[in-house]
Amino acid sequence: MKIYKSNIIPVTSENETAKYLITDKDKIIYVGNKIPSKYSQVEIINLENKTIVPGFFDTHTHFSSFGFFIDSLSVFTTAKSIKEVLDNIKKYVSDNKKKFYIMFGVSPFSVKENRLPTKMELDAIESKKPIFIVQYDGHAAIGNSALLKKVKVSKDIAGFNKELGYFFQDSFYKVVKSVTSKAPLTDAIKGIKNGADYAAKQGITSIVALQGEGFPLDMDLRLVKFYSKRLKIQIIPYFQTRSVKKIKRAKLKTWGGCFECAIDGSFGSLDAAMKEPYMVKTDIEGNKGKIFYDYSEISTMLEYANKNDIQVAIHAIGDKGIEEVVNVFQQYTNGENKNNHRIEHALILSKEEIKRIADNKIHIATQPAFLGDPLEPISLLKNILGEERFRRFMPLKEMFDAGIVVSGGSDAPVTMPNPLAGMYSAMNHPVSEQSLTAYQALQMFTINGAKGVRMDKIQGSLEVNKLADFVVLDKNPLKIDKKNIKNIKVEQVFKNGKRIV
Ligand SMILES: [Zn+2]
Repeated sequence: MKIYKSNIIPVTSENETAKYLITDKDKIIYVGNKIPSKYSQVEIINLENKTIVPGFFDTHTHFSSFGFFIDSLSVFTTAKSIKEVLDNIKKYVSDNKKKFYIMFGVSPFSVKENRLPTKMELDAIESKKPIFIVQYDGHAAIGNSALLKKVKVSKDIAGFNKELGYFFQDSFYKVVKSVTSKAPLTDAIKGIKNGADYAAKQGITSIVALQGEGFPLDMDLRLVKFYSKRLKIQIIPYFQTRSVKKIKRAKLKTWGGCFECAIDGSFGSLDAAMKEPYMVKTDIEGNKGKIFYDYSEISTMLEYANKNDIQVAIHAIGDKGIEEVVNVFQQYTNGENKNNHRIEHALILSKEEIKRIADNKIHIATQPAFLGDPLEPISLLKNILGEERFRRFMPLKEMFDAGIVVSGGSDAPVTMPNPLAGMYSAMNHPVSEQSLTAYQALQMFTINGAKGVRMDKIQGSLEVNKLADFVVLDKNPLKIDKKNIKNIKVEQVFKNGKRIV
């Protein structure tokens, strides 16, 4: 049994605070302001100048990719020009001796030249070993000459630019298949462990792993399922497939995410489905993005899910994509949405759509880090959407006011898992009236996260009989200036009553 004395924010109701948290083995047995006399002999762990909050949730990551790419992510986030990108790649290649370099996070939007590096520029860094770099939105990639020699991609396939080493559209999916079948399994396993360690240090005690990313035999899902029992934190795997047969075989109650389950694309690739055309010129006249599959497939999923207590999650980014998904969902929610079906991202929302989502009690799993991602900057979003539409980008305050349960995530490896940085973004929205209060932002990454994965009966807040998952912070997020939220430090992390950081 342990007694912690601290500033405790249980996240049970807005003004609730406590002085003491008592845990026994993996559970919380008391939260309150006066130690019950039966525990008076137990020694008190004094954390009086600290703040204790529930363990954080991240409800949307592509966990095995994140783990796999973790050591190469900073190569791209810090660079402001092609020269800096190339210098960083060069340093990464010389610091990490590998047979095959697979990296993630390159963006044409974060450098002043507004383009990706080329095959020739990569060849100048490494001519013998293959280098393969996936674009930050997971929709395109580049490779050096050694990579092109190693993978089999016919030069007529759509989106392949042999000269520059670029893979867009169909050629991207083709090359990913070829690369993943050659990627060493040991790196993937190491990545899963490193990813869990990284997340734990950010105060995350539960993380959603959206798997099924095109590996042969869905190896990524199998690995995550197998290793999840050996990790410090809780990993909640979701299967990104539209196949009833596959979900049945996988015996999971959590179904969907992005990839195969994405109804539309992304803003970076200008293929998120919109009601009105994008403001920038593309090859397609009046481009409004793309709906990737027929919504009758979602019907089939929901029908099976409702019969088998399965939750369904569908990626939808543009207002058209979201409308389509809500249209189907509302036929299966009966106004209560018992299985808590979710929409992932839900980035452009009109007032009417917010009302429909609230009326049907649809859960929204979104990623506040998109409100200030250096790889997909606000200036780019405003440019492709126009100022007026940008004002409807992730309207967090309106969603909360409407009573929608919104949870927070990172979409790692798109952004790094970091709930405090996510809280900062949610509280400092570029459309200032859509900013959340500190308490709401905290809810997003704690109790709402637990609701988003249907585990709020045992997690997400500090209450008797819930799991002893909690984080010790050096400052109280409800009491400091909202510009300083990012600077709060995670000092200790507990999962099931055991200290893990
Ligand atoms: Zn995603």
